[in-house]
Amino acid sequence: MAAEKSLALVLRTVDFSETSLVVTLFTREFGKIGALAKGARRPKSAFEGALDLLSLCRVVFLHKSSDALDLLTEAKLHRRFRAGARDLTRLYAGYYVAELLDELTHTGDPHPELYDAAVAALADLDGEGNVAAITLRMEMTALRVLGHAPSLAECVGCGIPVAPEERVAFGMLEGGVLCPECRPGKRQVVSVSGEVVKTLRRYADATSDAWRGSPPGAKTWGELRGALNHYLANLLGKKPKLHDFLGSLAKEPPRSGQGCP
Ligand SMILES: [Zn+2]
Repeated sequence: MAAEKSLALVLRTVDFSETSLVVTLFTREFGKIGALAKGARRPKSAFEGALDLLSLCRVVFLHKSSDALDLLTEAKLHRRFRAGARDLTRLYAGYYVAELLDELTHTGDPHPELYDAAVAALADLDGEGNVAAITLRMEMTALRVLGHAPSLAECVGCGIPVAPEERVAFGMLEGGVLCPECRPGKRQVVSVSGEVVKTLRRYADATSDAWRGSPPGAKTWGELRGALNHYLANLLGKKPKLHDFLGSLAKEPPRSGQGCP
């Protein structure tokens, strides 16, 4: 049983006994872990209030090889997520980042790029960054890193390029755009505008910060959120807990000049 060190985000905490907590952490080096924090609910503990939801900590834990919970021995607060205290929308966006990490990743499957993206998104939310834009960027990054990215340039059925023309067929179950040849007979296909596809491509592009640029119009945005919320619910196998938050995002497109922190 080796002692491991890592940076970690607190995704979830559950009271375990009168004095202890079970925490779900998304660590940079080890991926998601579940750990017992003995004595964490005592006023004076080794964790010194570091284990709040969405806190960024430096942790030491004993890694159990079996299915048993790891044992957290130390957590030092690195940065607290403060935005929630001043803005409910930012708080929900933070919760949603935690939900995506918790629901879409497996225990012990590390994704440092996703960790870094989540930390950056929370910092953006904590500042003045646009909530709708940051949320969409986080979603597209999570989908890409975890192998669930929708195909946005090639037909998901046959691989031929699909131009983002006026209307494009998007297969929810297939996971991407469909050419006219491949569309017939498919279930759960929605028609989206080419603008929706272009916007999704911009937010999915890992090599560019163009997503911070000119925001989509309200109509494109509403359509995009509708399609993406449907796609995510299919992927999760249920409505996200933050479903209502996502619904509210559909009505509030990113505004010009708010993309940059
Ligand atoms: Zn095709």
